[in-house]
Amino acid sequence: MTTFNYFKIFALILVAALGSCQKSTELEIVKSFDGVETELWEHFDNFEKEAARRGVHIDLAASGITGSIEKIHTPGMVGICNHRVDTPNHVMIDSDFWNSASENAREMIIFHELGHCYLHRGHNDAAHSDGTCSSIMRSGLGGCVDFYTNSNRKGYLTELFADAQH
Ligand SMILES: [Zn+2]
Repeated sequence: MTTFNYFKIFALILVAALGSCQKSTELEIVKSFDGVETELWEHFDNFEKEAARRGVHIDLAASGITGSIEKIHTPGMVGICNHRVDTPNHVMIDSDFWNSASENAREMIIFHELGHCYLHRGHNDAAHSDGTCSSIMRSGLGGCVDFYTNSNRKGYLTELFADAQH
């Protein structure tokens, strides 16, 4: 067998491995949330799971919180917790932000809005000594710098759920 043929076989195995990997992601069961756009389900589910890890029981579906991804026409605003009569607790995420944001940024904004809509938290612009925000409930106008990374995520989530009812 030539080196080229070995390479072809290796390429086939690689494609098969990637293919099976994608399939298992698609089959992953995520809880469903009525009135919430499907793309947000994973994050709503993670919000409940992260709360549960900290001893806080949250059932977003039972709370009736709805959610959508659509154009928000206020400059600089990427998410809103909307209180309309028909949808009193509606998380709205800006579509332009959604399409360009990293997974961490998406999660931070959704969790921030759920912080308003579900946890009834207001804004907190307190900063650590290095200038980074101490809460994801920062207003975005208060001068502290967002630093929601894989390594800081845990601390921010502990802060988010700290005063929630157990
Ligand atoms: Zn806010």
